[in-house]
Amino acid sequence: MKTFAVIGLGRFGSSVATTLYRLGHEVLAVDSDAKKVEDIIENVTHAVQADAKDEHTLRELGIRNFDVVVVAIGQDMQTNILVTVMLKDMGVKKVVSKARTELHGKVLQRIGADRVVFPERDMGERVARALVSKNIMEQINLSPDYSIAELMAPQSYVGKTLQELAFRKELGVTILAIRRDNDIIISPGAKTEIKPNDVLVAIGRYEKLEEIGDKEL
Ligand code: ADP
Repeated sequence: MKTFAVIGLGRFGSSVATTLYRLGHEVLAVDSDAKKVEDIIENVTHAVQADAKDEHTLRELGIRNFDVVVVAIGQDMQTNILVTVMLKDMGVKKVVSKARTELHGKVLQRIGADRVVFPERDMGERVARALVSKNIMEQINLSPDYSIAELMAPQSYVGKTLQELAFRKELGVTILAIRRDNDIIISPGAKTEIKPNDVLVAIGRYEKLEEIGDKEL
């Protein structure tokens, strides 16, 4: 179990906070708006109404002792930057800050944010990629060229083994896992046969994964 503090409980911050809590971690949620605090109180360990710009308040909350502090203040860029600097100055080990633009992200990196996230940009990209490919359900971009994708197995694959389909030889794609009903087959062997409704978790070049993803279901 890790300890997290999430500052700013907008759509992004509240989703991060409640997910961490559901995953079994200790979560302190902070917002200057009493309504936001009230709305989240049942779904986190502690929720506090406080202005994160106030250094004294942050110290009182023992913020420097948390493993990770997430700065999820979105609209107010100036406050987001100021709070990030203050947290690093106070000695917080890991500060994750939400950026709205590329430039904002660069500033956050310069002032010492340990990780900068761009939730709107990343989600937009994921949704766009999922829209252009019929069978790709989820995708993690590893680099501009390579990704890991979760794909519905096309009809033409059913009844064939991974060896027969020769993904690696033909497409340079490796099947990492197969989701079948509620089970998961990790590192499936060459003799594994594809069944109807299988979901393939594959790694490879983006356009090759898309080629598989565009086959008829
Ligand atoms: P999103 O786009 O993820 O919904 P918002 O920018 O709308 O994010 O929400 C940010 C949240 O941060 C709001 O709930 C706001 O009340 C809170 N917030 C803004 N400034 C401060 C501050 N100085 N201290 C604590 N919380 C703040």
